[in-house]
Amino acid sequence: MSDKLILVLNCGSSSLKGALIDNHSGEVILSCLAEKLTTPDAYITFKYFEHPNVKPADRASWFNGRADGDKHEVSLSGNHDHTGAVQALLDELTTHNLQNLVKAIGHRVVHGGEKYSGSVVITDDVIATLEECIPLAPLHNPANLTGIRAAQSIFPELTNVGVFDTAFHQTMPEHAYTYAVPRELYRKYGFRRYGFHGTSFRYVAPAAAQILGKNVEDCALVIAHLGNGASVCAVKNGESKDTSMGVTPLEGLVMGTRSGDIDPSTCSFLAENAGMDVKAVTDLLNKKSGLLGISELSNDCRTIQEAADEGHAGAKLALEVMTYRLAKYIASMAVATDGIDALVFTGGIGENSNVVRSKTVGYLGFLGLTIDEKANDATRFGAAGIISEAGKTPAVLVVPTNEERMIAMDTGRLAGL
Ligand code: AMP
Repeated sequence: MSDKLILVLNCGSSSLKGALIDNHSGEVILSCLAEKLTTPDAYITFKYFEHPNVKPADRASWFNGRADGDKHEVSLSGNHDHTGAVQALLDELTTHNLQNLVKAIGHRVVHGGEKYSGSVVITDDVIATLEECIPLAPLHNPANLTGIRAAQSIFPELTNVGVFDTAFHQTMPEHAYTYAVPRELYRKYGFRRYGFHGTSFRYVAPAAAQILGKNVEDCALVIAHLGNGASVCAVKNGESKDTSMGVTPLEGLVMGTRSGDIDPSTCSFLAENAGMDVKAVTDLLNKKSGLLGISELSNDCRTIQEAADEGHAGAKLALEVMTYRLAKYIASMAVATDGIDALVFTGGIGENSNVVRSKTVGYLGFLGLTIDEKANDATRFGAAGIISEAGKTPAVLVVPTNEERMIAMDTGRLAGL
């Protein structure tokens, strides 16, 4: 293990996810998840990983007698906000005498607006800009800022770096990011397509190019990041040319609980027919739609697949709507890349669901995409590789994403480690 560790933090309004990453090897040493923050039931769970560079003789002291991969939970009832969670993390590090090895902190930040096309060291000016971006991400950016302030107060001597979900998409051409609404809305409010999951696409694109034996600068890729939130991105020559999420993460694909694309008249329709106000419609489209809304069962793809196998009509329909929409979007992204060298699956569903991959590629034979069912079944649970028929182009790939590692890499670079 090197003596330079990076803490990666991802804060939600009531949660904090953390990972302690070795700057040299990229290995995760410790991860944590604080939940129910801001309530008296708040707690934080620490999970230890085996570390290849920790000598067996040192392991007992490293893991404090716990088995590798063990979890343990600490109540945050005394100080149950984000600062309390970061303090508990520092206490945990101190127990292992690791506190002095942490050299920098990387923060996942959802929205950087048009200001940031790359990661930045967090300064007072950056914080002011993130505050300006709050109207673009009213749920996420305040939580990210809370995490940054908590880190600054508990680790006052460390460099903090912001890594934005939106930054990778700043290379989109104007015709891809402009909505067909009065131009004034863009000038006044920055109303345009931004796109998200940029850190994941940025990690996956070169890894996919490597599998193809090419440079990412010479590749046309359509990448489908399919998790509870999902989006596709057209990556040409290493740059984002278009993506399915928009001014918010609601646009585009059918997701766990989000509707994705929908007739813009939905709001007036539901106001007039169901008496719903803007807040209720927003809630419905973000939290009650997608796989959950169609299936009336679950937002979880694995549960949906199992129920569909057992004949659950809602689950079957949810899977069909999701994969058909996904295929339509993949085909449309091939316009942005002007043909494709490979379709790449990533994210919890993309990495693990042979069913979703097979159904989706089944619609895309006209683009020359094929699937080798044996390779498709075998390439799951962390495996990477080609799942299209041998020698056929475009290729279809699976590449596990690693957003935390990408954040740690940017943080190490910007902190001069
Ligand atoms: P993420 O948000 O990237 O963690 O992905 C979460 C989604 O991945 C959930 O919908 C899970 O049900 C789905 N997922 C994870 N493992 C599998 C699997 N083996 N088969 C199908 N879906 C899976």
